[in-house]
Amino acid sequence: MFTPPLAKLIEQLQKLPGIGPKNAQRLALHIIKRSDKDAEALAQAILDAKRRVGLCQKCFHLSADPVCEICRNPSRVQSTICVVADSKDVIALEKTREYQGLYHVIGGVISPMDGIGPEQLHIQPLIQRVSQEKIEEVILAINPSVEGETTTLYIGQLVKPFTKVTRIAFGLPMGGDLEYADEITLARALEGRRDFD
Ligand code: ZN
Repeated sequence: MFTPPLAKLIEQLQKLPGIGPKNAQRLALHIIKRSDKDAEALAQAILDAKRRVGLCQKCFHLSADPVCEICRNPSRVQSTICVVADSKDVIALEKTREYQGLYHVIGGVISPMDGIGPEQLHIQPLIQRVSQEKIEEVILAINPSVEGETTTLYIGQLVKPFTKVTRIAFGLPMGGDLEYADEITLARALEGRRDFD
């Protein structure tokens, strides 16, 4: 049995995604062995990130500023919006260095089973952007799961009256995740995007 404070730390770490009991123990013991300064730096980084990081008010990507760095960057192509489910997809697409436009993070996929309907996602602000700004192309880049497909079709229909809509050509299997696609696959998927109809 671990002494209560250590047990508590293990319990908290185990709540993190991908961290099982063994990993939680290993991490907790590692943290205990390190200096007070290291432990404080870790605790402080968690608190700082939690307090300071919110969502960009324009694209809903994670940002410590009201408007994120991508939206603020004047050298990005302002007339293209790539729609993704999650901030981690922005990170994956940015790694390819292929995409120069802007993003819109809807914050999940439509999933009635989990009580997530369109109104729980940032879809309305996307329609606003597309109808009010000079947008020449909306690229739909949502993971190709059943829910992802439903979400893609839903958004495509709403956006189509305003602008050209394309969807990325996944070389990924159904259920494949943008996050785990390698950069070349993702770059190809982006390059081979096709018209939404
Ligand atoms: Zn932004």
